[in-house]
Amino acid sequence: MTSPSRSPSAFSHLECSRTGETVDADGLRNLSAAGAPLLARYDLERARATLRPGQRDARARSLWRYAEVLPDPGAAGPVTLDEGLTPLVATPRLGRRLGVPGLLIKDESRNPLGSFKDRGMSVAVSMARALGARALAIPTAGNAGGSAAAYAARAGLAAHVFMPADAEHANVREVERAGAALTLVDGFLHDCARIVARRAPTEGWFDVSTFKEPYRVEGKKTMGYELVEALGDVPDVILYPTGGGTGLVGMWKAFEEMEALGWLGRRRPRMVCVQATGCAPLARAFEAGAETAEVWESPTTHVHGLRAPRVLADFLCLNAIRASEGTAIAVSDEAMHAMQTTAASAEGLSICPEGAACLVALERLREAGWLGADERVVAFNTASALKYA
Ligand SMILES: *Cc1c(COP(=O)(O)O)cnc(C)c1O
Repeated sequence: MTSPSRSPSAFSHLECSRTGETVDADGLRNLSAAGAPLLARYDLERARATLRPGQRDARARSLWRYAEVLPDPGAAGPVTLDEGLTPLVATPRLGRRLGVPGLLIKDESRNPLGSFKDRGMSVAVSMARALGARALAIPTAGNAGGSAAAYAARAGLAAHVFMPADAEHANVREVERAGAALTLVDGFLHDCARIVARRAPTEGWFDVSTFKEPYRVEGKKTMGYELVEALGDVPDVILYPTGGGTGLVGMWKAFEEMEALGWLGRRRPRMVCVQATGCAPLARAFEAGAETAEVWESPTTHVHGLRAPRVLADFLCLNAIRASEGTAIAVSDEAMHAMQTTAASAEGLSICPEGAACLVALERLREAGWLGADERVVAFNTASALKYA
């Protein structure tokens, strides 16, 4: 596609993640005809001519510096709050306690609204605006709603946010402050999703649910690009707290793209999917050797980012975990909360329970001998602890 604004984007088309069918990207799109997520594809030969690692100073101070491998937001430009470019923090004192002294934490709490949901929303809202959406709708456990409300406000769009009634107070307040319409639902995330799916077509809302639109995962994949730029290669192991799986699938996609761009060889990190024992549909499916995950009935975890009972991109997550020779593990809420204190007292970082889950999983996997003391390990801290005050 040629663009009159001479955009650097090498975006080419959308593709059904299940059937490979090509889908026209000129309008607002949700799932494919097969009911599966759509994924963005690029002319990576073209991107390769201008996108190289280590061009930090010459480029945007946000994830939009990877413009070649992001969709084209058009003449209006991206809707941005300078998301991304988060630090990869060395945590030697904590690492020694957990048995991996070289531990690095990718600290996503530094994003504008305090969670990595900002990455996905910047790209999704940019594209929704460019393609003519007037109002967005989102079912959310909390942080995605806060980000959607903020980026919609920044874009001048309306937003309708559906959240479980027991969501974190910080999320409720940030949605209200940003002027979005908030509905508190007596139920779980998939109950909110059902309401949005039913109402969006008649209300004229564009549904930006996880994996129901194609561009949140593009924003999240930039975490993979940043890791490779910071390390000069992939790490040995990545621990990721998985709800809907956008980061897991996004980073896996980014590694594939970077191989085509000539940044990487064939080596991949072992991807560890970390969930809560009170809602672990992917860990259960991984253990069972299944290719898809059943809905987790009656989740009991109170850690909202991990309370995603139904995983639309289940087959993509499970494929990334298995193809990488990774694993999936569930940990308790109690262990997460204790680890928040351990991590904060050892390193001073503001670690959310989901981020702490990765550290609990790391300690377990180290004890079990699944990973070695001198491996290069990256754990994701996906939000600020302030969101859970
Ligand atoms: C949403 C969320 C997650 C899960 O992210 P997915 O990409 O949906 O798997 C993890 N941690 C926090 C803090 C979140 O808000």
